[in-house]
Amino acid sequence: MNNMPRSYQVFSFALPLPIYHSFDYKVDQDIDAQPGQRFVLPFANGKKLGLLVSAVDNSRYDLNRLKNIETQLDSAPLLSKHLMQLARWLADYYCQPLGEVTFLFMPRYCRKLRSMKTTRVQIWSALECEQATLDSLQQKAPRQFQLMLALKQNPDGLNAAALKAVQANWHAQIKVLQKKGLVIAQHKENLPPIPEVMQTGPVLTRQQQKICETIAPTLHDFHVHLIQGVTGSGKTEVYVQLMQQVLAQGRQVIYLVPEIGLTPQLIKRIQQRLTYTVVSSHSAQTDFKRYQSWDQFRRGVAQVLIGTRSALFSDASGLGLMIIDEEHDASYRQQDGVRYHARDVAIKRAQMLGIPVIMGSATPSLESLQNLNKPHYHFHELRQRPNQSAPPKIELLDIANTPLTGGCSPRLLQAIDKHLSLQGQVLLFLNRRGYAPVVMCHDCGWQASCYQCDARMTLHQSVNKLICHHCGYSMQLPQQCPDCGEPNIKHYGIGTQQLEQFLQQRFSEYKTIRIDRDSVQGAEGIEHRLEPVQRGEPCILVGTQMLAKGHDYPHITLVGILDADQALFSSFYRAAERLVQTVLQVSGRAGRAGKTGQALLQTRFVNHPLMQNLCVQSYTDLARDMLQERKLLGFPPFARVVTLLVDALQLDDALQRLQLLVKPIQASSVFASVKMVGPIPALMTRRVGRYRAQLSVMSDQIRPIRILLQELMPFIIKQKNTQKSRLVIEVDPLDL
Ligand SMILES: [Zn+2]
Ligand SMILES: [Zn+2]
Repeated sequence: MNNMPRSYQVFSFALPLPIYHSFDYKVDQDIDAQPGQRFVLPFANGKKLGLLVSAVDNSRYDLNRLKNIETQLDSAPLLSKHLMQLARWLADYYCQPLGEVTFLFMPRYCRKLRSMKTTRVQIWSALECEQATLDSLQQKAPRQFQLMLALKQNPDGLNAAALKAVQANWHAQIKVLQKKGLVIAQHKENLPPIPEVMQTGPVLTRQQQKICETIAPTLHDFHVHLIQGVTGSGKTEVYVQLMQQVLAQGRQVIYLVPEIGLTPQLIKRIQQRLTYTVVSSHSAQTDFKRYQSWDQFRRGVAQVLIGTRSALFSDASGLGLMIIDEEHDASYRQQDGVRYHARDVAIKRAQMLGIPVIMGSATPSLESLQNLNKPHYHFHELRQRPNQSAPPKIELLDIANTPLTGGCSPRLLQAIDKHLSLQGQVLLFLNRRGYAPVVMCHDCGWQASCYQCDARMTLHQSVNKLICHHCGYSMQLPQQCPDCGEPNIKHYGIGTQQLEQFLQQRFSEYKTIRIDRDSVQGAEGIEHRLEPVQRGEPCILVGTQMLAKGHDYPHITLVGILDADQALFSSFYRAAERLVQTVLQVSGRAGRAGKTGQALLQTRFVNHPLMQNLCVQSYTDLARDMLQERKLLGFPPFARVVTLLVDALQLDDALQRLQLLVKPIQASSVFASVKMVGPIPALMTRRVGRYRAQLSVMSDQIRPIRILLQELMPFIIKQKNTQKSRLVIEVDPLDL
């Protein structure tokens, strides 16, 4: 063995653990170790994957005591300097452990203890040869001849699957052909094809033209453009125009869409307009597929990446533009694991790179509207739709004293009849999946509620089960009341399944299509179900929030919103904003492509000011009023909030743990500039069997919040998370 003293460097590694510090290991001097590379590390009694974060001064250590890394997995950094910097910013701003954050930045495929596979595919092609060689093959080795023939017919080469289709035992034969110098194996990019004929876009309207002209000169610097455009006003067309300009300069584009707004339809639509390679990334894909898109975009062989939230973390060789469609959508906020807001992180990334962001929505978030006061923010409005038909005015249907059938009032049913008979399509929005939301005993009043959440269980009749929508717990629908034993169990209220069933009977000559989480699996599932809608045949579309996103339904003439009243009395401070956004998003689906639309909203509270305003005001007016109200209440976006949330096996434990942080908060140098609320039990106190309590700190300025967090972090880090109780920090939470 080598007796020479070895020299080592010491590095800090991020591990995917919910703790706030990194881990130091020594690395042999001969190894070219760089930040952003992955290593296999000895950890406890096993091995863990770690990402090298930074060099550490090794004089601090007795090197004999420090553990050595096991293996280096990447020869080049998996995460670039820029992404490492963004990860640090995210970890710092959102107070999330750096280890978990850096792992969030890697595709899931790379979070395993393995070296990365090439995302290119192997292709075999035939080389030039004499006819005599082929003739002799045909006689002496007919199987090889068969493969040669297939390869000759495909000058671009064939992959493993194609060769296997020619001959089951292809691999051994190909090897021989390679040895004979007749076949060559190469790696080729496995990219989605660019269509041979591009589609020409519609002629831009004056407004679209003007927005493009205003944004174009700003494409080389950090600017945030917010385009407010009613549904169907052609925001996508503006994105495409500006993307083309950025792509023509040899730069790349990341295009973010909400969780369920990403459809094959959208990818196809964008690809048909661009002579550049478009790849996509979303949760319905396999880990390898997502890694492949990520890798192709990183190496610059793909120029456009369309994806949901986490596509934001994709590395690029020359990122030039970020688009955030439907920027108001709540799915941009990550609600578990590492908590962050994709829109806000994307804007930070653009600022670091000095590139523009273009955001669009028919109903921009109040945050973004308020941000327009900041430098670098610009507002653009698309008022008219290219086909001239205005979005429908919302009409209220008073259902306070009206008997409903299947959740629908007689006037709504009449309207459905009328629109279907005129060959129109109908969209009914009901944000409650399942069959019935309430199951009760008629004799004693027993209610079916989840044993591990403070929530009622929803009846799903198709499987005869009660399901908790918060934790997924399910049980058979009892035949008799568990409390009094009487067989008098009844259900109340209506969910999308019951509505669908009712409509199928009532309008049996038309198709009823239900779109919700139970009926649709993945983006392809939606696409398939929506085929009749795309074909334009008269039909009824029933669904939840899922319907309000991303899809284009050009033949819908009537939109009915069945039950929006809950939002009027919600304690969620964003309830009004959500209600307004949902109603306008959904009703905006009516009357497109030249057809006049109608939007009906059923309510028991026709005189409620919000309901009244929804009928007469534009989103701009509604948003202005809501902002005014938030300002009076001192709520975001006029306040910055941090919530400390603890869940524990006992409510007392959760409250006590937060109580321990009250003193440090009160002792903070900035305590006078913040408002502390709590510790209090969270709105839904029991969830998935755990009790939740929260403590919020708010201020009208960001600075005191940042200082307070800095002072508080040592106390938070000292409290270790255990199975018994866990603390998470929510910076800029959506809820209070
Ligand atoms: Zn009972
Ligand atoms: Zn539950």
